[in-house]
Amino acid sequence: MKDVVIIGGGAVGLWSAWHLIQAGRQVTIIDKGDFTDGCSYGNAGMIVPSHFIPMASPGVISKGIQWMFRKDSPFYIRPRLNTELVRWLWSFYRSSNKTHVAQSIELLRDLHTESRESYKNLDKNHGFDFGFQQKGILMLYKSISAERDELEMAEQAHRLGIEAVHLSAEELRRVEPAVQITVKGAVHYPGDAHIVPHEFMAQMIHKLKLRGVEFLQNSEVVHIDDSASSGVDVHLYGGQRIEARNVIVAAGTWAGKLMKESRYYLPIQDGKGYSMTLKHPELKPTIPSILHEARVAITPMGDDLRISGTLEISGMDGEINPHRVNSILKAIPEYYPEIQTGNPGPVWYGYRPCTPDGLPCIGPMKKGSAVIIAAGHAMMGLSLAPVTGRIVCDIVQNKQRKPNNKLDPYRFS
Ligand SMILES: Cc1cc2nc3c(=O)[nH]c(=O)nc-3n(C[C@H](O)[C@H](O)[C@H](O)COP(=O)(O)OP(=O)(O)OC[C@H]3O[C@@H](n4cnc5c(N)ncnc54)[C@H](O)[C@@H]3O)c2cc1C
Repeated sequence: MKDVVIIGGGAVGLWSAWHLIQAGRQVTIIDKGDFTDGCSYGNAGMIVPSHFIPMASPGVISKGIQWMFRKDSPFYIRPRLNTELVRWLWSFYRSSNKTHVAQSIELLRDLHTESRESYKNLDKNHGFDFGFQQKGILMLYKSISAERDELEMAEQAHRLGIEAVHLSAEELRRVEPAVQITVKGAVHYPGDAHIVPHEFMAQMIHKLKLRGVEFLQNSEVVHIDDSASSGVDVHLYGGQRIEARNVIVAAGTWAGKLMKESRYYLPIQDGKGYSMTLKHPELKPTIPSILHEARVAITPMGDDLRISGTLEISGMDGEINPHRVNSILKAIPEYYPEIQTGNPGPVWYGYRPCTPDGLPCIGPMKKGSAVIIAAGHAMMGLSLAPVTGRIVCDIVQNKQRKPNNKLDPYRFS
């Protein structure tokens, strides 16, 4: 019997493995892919204690409805007669309220902050070099209404003890002299950080292999069964069965489908997003930013510049929507007039695992189960992966540091 099997080798699976081997456990990671691409590789690389508001929050529904009718909008839900989507939307609607936000913000702040420290520690003390930099992020805005939203958010951040510095256009030039920015102003969150995600992933896989973690690639798990009195059966495509003391479901956006095959309800919708990486641009900012009106993220990564955006809940259709890609590219010169996006290179896309309340699911699938779910991190999975791995490890080790009830995977059942 294997000791711990992790299904899914994205950022969440790898960080879980990292913590588990420190605790002396034997780990096997099974992935249907080959550990070279996926949501954890092409993302914007931001580690964000400033993102303490869950996606399900007041105002998001009305904004979403306005955006749904624009073919180039940054947020889109493809209307479909699909019972799972309808159930997910209803749950999203019910979660989008002030009480849910009030109960989530300190939790998210603490989770992101612990994660940032874990990345920092890994970068400094364990021989990694994945471009960790704590320069913060800039929330850039052009309009008066966006300024009002950003200042409200900054106020809330202050109340939570998160540093947020309001900058006029003039002050912004001093903070980011590397490149011209044409905006009304910005809020700088100096506590945020960024990394080069694909480098982190490659290095983490290498280090885990050196420490004895077993990697099974191109192996799809089709079903898990925890009904036996000891251990969990993991069934692979092709008929192979693996038995394990503990199983961690870190399958990202596919976790809902896998759990459905195992007769368990885990509501996760696929939130498609795109990124493009400009190679060696002549000019680039030194601080990552989010363009408020366009909902586009800009991240300097080594010599390159990554541009990412959109959230399309349209199923796993594998399509690249040219209107949304163009609107991401069009936004760049509107904020950074010196940056040329004429040759953006190939378009990458990934599926964010989105739960209806905007919080991840971290914990046993039911009380006392040896199957632990670690999925549903939506747009924050890179940022929340280290702390998720730590919580997973605590649960496997039977430590009493129980995660907040708001993270229980069975909260939806
Ligand atoms: C454009 C974009 C920008 C983003 N920017 C950021 C950002 O700046 N900061 C941030 O924190 N987050 C960001 N995100 C979100 C982040 O990328 C995800 O939340 C995160 O990568 C999810 O990690 P994961 O390990 O849960 O899932 P994944 O990385 O998707 O890994 C899941 C793995 O499970 C495997 N798998 C699935 N099903 C099975 C099965 N049945 N059997 C075997 N293997 C299986 C898959 O092959 C995959 O390798 C962004 C996402 C996008 C799309």
